[in-house]
Amino acid sequence: MKRIYPARHLFLSLAVATSLFVVPAAFASGGGHDGGTAAPAKSAEETIKAAVNGNEQFKAHHDSHHFDAFQSGQAPNLTVVACSDSRVHTQLFGMQPDNNIFVIRNIGNQIKNAEGSVDYGVRHLPTRVLLVLGHSSCGAIKAAMGDYSGETTGIKAELDALKPVIAAEDRNDETNTRWGKNVERNVDFQVRTAMELYKDKIAGGELTVVGGVYDFNDLYGKGRGTLVVTNINGETNPNLIMAHPALKELGKGEVVNHVGSLAPGL
Ligand SMILES: [Zn+2]
Repeated sequence: MKRIYPARHLFLSLAVATSLFVVPAAFASGGGHDGGTAAPAKSAEETIKAAVNGNEQFKAHHDSHHFDAFQSGQAPNLTVVACSDSRVHTQLFGMQPDNNIFVIRNIGNQIKNAEGSVDYGVRHLPTRVLLVLGHSSCGAIKAAMGDYSGETTGIKAELDALKPVIAAEDRNDETNTRWGKNVERNVDFQVRTAMELYKDKIAGGELTVVGGVYDFNDLYGKGRGTLVVTNINGETNPNLIMAHPALKELGKGEVVNHVGSLAPGL
């Protein structure tokens, strides 16, 4: 089959892009997690006031009809398991995330740590698509790659669940390259977990599991802020993802601009 995108060339290009990646200051000491170690800019009082007033601003820009559609129940189209990192937004439906996205978030965008919530989205609502959304510069992945023995019991339990991902990494790569690849490997790992949990629905064509990386560091060379699709129902080869029926509604250019891989073949 003729390749649309030579995988080796793609890999090398991305390896160069990754090598330019700058370590966020929050993790320079090796102890950071999502949210970093810098002090918040606002005091507690300012933060509470900003949250209350911010919601009032939202309310002022949405008349009461905005709430009509979901007075008696929700009907979201998408279940998302995303990292809690504050840099990962939830505007996946543009300005209309309300009643469109059932959102589950934890450090490292993990399925097992929130299995009941994911079950609810996939089996009870149910949405037809489950998106596992990792992101560039993920502190949970970085922490799992290092010594986190001094962390709290709760944090250690969350990071321990990422051990299979870290165990599979290529130690020959330098740290930042491994970091970027491990973010993607974790997405693949979580997609595999979801496929095992929901294999009946996937086999029945009722659910598509999509893995993606929200790339605000431009590791994939597709521009800062791009949602890069890296996995569909376990398929991780960019050329095969591009040909996947689940992307048939997208134009060819859109597909090429949103499919990528930093760690092909794993
Ligand atoms: Zn993260």
